[in-house]
Amino acid sequence: MTAEAKRTAFQELPFYSPQGQEIALFENAYQHQLPVLIKGPTGCGKTRFIRHMAARLGRPLYTVACHDDLTAADLIGRHLIGDGTTYWADGPLTRAVREGAICYLDEVVEARKDTTVVLHPLSDDRRTLPIERTGEVLQAPPEFMLVVSYNPGYQNLLKGMKPSTRQRFVGMSFDYPRPETERQVVMGESGVKTATAERLVALAGGLRALKDHDLEESASTRLLVYAGTLINNGFDPVEACRAAIVEPLTDDPETADALMEVVRAVF
Ligand code: ADP
Repeated sequence: MTAEAKRTAFQELPFYSPQGQEIALFENAYQHQLPVLIKGPTGCGKTRFIRHMAARLGRPLYTVACHDDLTAADLIGRHLIGDGTTYWADGPLTRAVREGAICYLDEVVEARKDTTVVLHPLSDDRRTLPIERTGEVLQAPPEFMLVVSYNPGYQNLLKGMKPSTRQRFVGMSFDYPRPETERQVVMGESGVKTATAERLVALAGGLRALKDHDLEESASTRLLVYAGTLINNGFDPVEACRAAIVEPLTDDPETADALMEVVRAVF
């Protein structure tokens, strides 16, 4: 299995604060064996949501971080050589199909086009996975579910998902949570008290409203959680925000100064 793939079997339900109807929609898609596509900026809760849903539905989760070298064999499997013989090793997608697990392909648009084509027979009503190398054709059990995510912000013409792939999925758009939800998330994840969480959320609002700076993405919920964690451990809030929010967002000193002004206005 590729180094990026991870199998998780959950004993506990990972904390997830819903943004809308996504839990009911996901459960419905699972019951009707429909694959799901989740769009949204980085750090807004997509992965946490899927971990939560896998635990809720009682299914193991295979997570694959897609990248531009990811081949179909990385997902399906390959022959390996060991002890003088060759043997077949399932990839994470094949394992998920055999086990009736949820397979989550994170940042699927990064993967090569030929890779996404292997998803086609799995993501329509055939629900099959042909393994060319071994001649097997696996029929996915009802418990198997395919979930993909991508960040529309990074998309370019070369990388967009093909309509023939997109149109096989039920789609959901995620964004940063509403302030009240985000405050709960920051408190629950970092341990800060209400007042600090409120300031961090207000800071995120201020940073997200900055339009005239050349930021690829704005402050995510994840960054607020990081800043909260530093503050909760006794770090000065302004320095915590510099380290956890401003530095990861930009390399440009002028932009960093502008972001720090917003930080100082809040803390
Ligand atoms: P994404 O997959 O969208 O990049 P993650 O799911 O990894 O983002 O979210 C980043 C972090 O933000 C999580 O580890 C979690 O601490 C927090 N988080 C964001 N949204 C939520 C939410 N709705 N409920 C609980 N935690 C959340």
